[in-house]
Amino acid sequence: MATARPRKTFAIISHPDAGKTTLTEKLLYFGGAIHTAGMVKSRKSKLQATSDWMEIEKQRGISVTSSVMQFSYNGYAVNILDTPGHQDFSEDTYRTLTAADSAVMLIDAAKGVEPQTIKLFEVCRMRKIPIFTFINKMDRESKDPLALLEELEEVLGIRSCPMNWPIGSGIDFKGVYDRERQQVELFKHGEKGRHIFPVFQEGKSNEKVKELLGEERYMKLKEDIELLDIAGDPFDREKIDNGLLTPVFFGSALTNFGVESFLEYFLRLAPGPAPRMSDKGLISPEHNKFSGFVFKIQANMNPAHRDRIAFLRIVSGKFIRGMTVQHVRTGKRIKLSQPQQFLAQERNIVEEAYPGDIIGLFDPGTFGIGDTLVEGNQTFSFADIPHFSPEIFAKVRAKDTMKYKQFHKGMQQLTEEGAVQYFTTAAPGAETLILGVVGQLQLEVFEYRMRNEYGVDVELQPLGFTLARWVKGNKKEHELNLIQYGGSLVVRDREGRLVVLLENEFAERWAKEKNPDVEFVSTSYE
Ligand code: GDP
Repeated sequence: MATARPRKTFAIISHPDAGKTTLTEKLLYFGGAIHTAGMVKSRKSKLQATSDWMEIEKQRGISVTSSVMQFSYNGYAVNILDTPGHQDFSEDTYRTLTAADSAVMLIDAAKGVEPQTIKLFEVCRMRKIPIFTFINKMDRESKDPLALLEELEEVLGIRSCPMNWPIGSGIDFKGVYDRERQQVELFKHGEKGRHIFPVFQEGKSNEKVKELLGEERYMKLKEDIELLDIAGDPFDREKIDNGLLTPVFFGSALTNFGVESFLEYFLRLAPGPAPRMSDKGLISPEHNKFSGFVFKIQANMNPAHRDRIAFLRIVSGKFIRGMTVQHVRTGKRIKLSQPQQFLAQERNIVEEAYPGDIIGLFDPGTFGIGDTLVEGNQTFSFADIPHFSPEIFAKVRAKDTMKYKQFHKGMQQLTEEGAVQYFTTAAPGAETLILGVVGQLQLEVFEYRMRNEYGVDVELQPLGFTLARWVKGNKKEHELNLIQYGGSLVVRDREGRLVVLLENEFAERWAKEKNPDVEFVSTSYE
């Protein structure tokens, strides 16, 4: 196999407003993929301007789409998977994480761990991928850094190892101390750059730094560092690799402070493309034949093409434009002639790509989430991409019952591309279809697309559930002891697995207590 530059493929997980767009922009900037600030934002607005198919998107001024960005740095090819985060938070956001080899957890220093971060973190934990933490906005008043580390442990249950340590915050933010390099990086307000002075060399006090920081801050820093050295979790590569310990970096994306050194550490420590489980065992990136899986399908990004784009993560081998591959689920052979790569601004045609890379394939309706593509006569399939618990549920039916054919076609295609999940009530004959989505916007998009693409007006009747739990164990549905009076409902998912919909966490706790012999899990993972 031709050698490729080493790959690093990751996603940024964060709560809206923590600074993901800003950080992404700076990373792309260091990689030379963009030249001016504001391009990532303008990418969002450009997409809005061109995707006329979704009026909702324009009306709300948000982007329903998300993409992949590639840049080079220090000999690495870096792929950032963009995870939609605002009102367009959806199952896509979770699924994207199944294509990443590591995650960068971005935290607002003043706010700490926020709800969306917790949800995304859980998916990363389930996959046991390494998580790197960037605590952002240190140029603003922040929580106490030790309290932030405690929060990581208490709320997320992950231990942390600070790679650098902040000196003050807000107007008093002076910079960070890099623990490995044993030097201070000084921050100057109003200056987007860094000024580095070595400090504490050979344990001697460094007069220059002392002078710059002032005696008091200097002594405080020294104390902090001594405390971390004695009481903090030591750097442990194995724990980091297994997602049990997160290296923590403090910085300020907006002022570009700490971003480049973060990138350098990240590239050094983050894993390359990981092997993936298939029904025939692990497939390693060194396996010499091309293989990959579809983790996301996006409809009609370009109004000129009414078709969809399937995003494929390459697991092994080398992709060459025009190659013919096998679509394992259907046994069809498919020529991959127009694959796309998603750079910051434009879509480019990819000529070749390697394990860790993401390519976009034009999809006339062939692909479903989790589909495997392989080169030659291989026949393995990668493990399914799980479903994640929706949070909003509604009964759905076609207003015009004569349109049931179109209705079912639309339901099938939209669930295959992962836009919504559906469940059926167990009662045979009198089946009720229930839609489940992670964000309200997905329901609106569903309604809109059913009308515009399938010509069906649907009626949605909201249900009061907020959780879906897959039932693992050997109980039949009627044997489950669940809270009555609307607090729960037993259903099947599209693949026929047993699921309970629950009103709230109270109903979930009840279910767990009353049914100790089964497990209630929040994803369909086996
Ligand atoms: P996203 O929603 O996570 O993509 O967040 P954005 O990147 O859009 O940032 C949200 C807001 O925080 C914007 O107004 C940014 O300018 C601001 N912001 C991002 N990073 C920093 C930072 O390091 N310091 C300060 N003071 N503001 C920041």
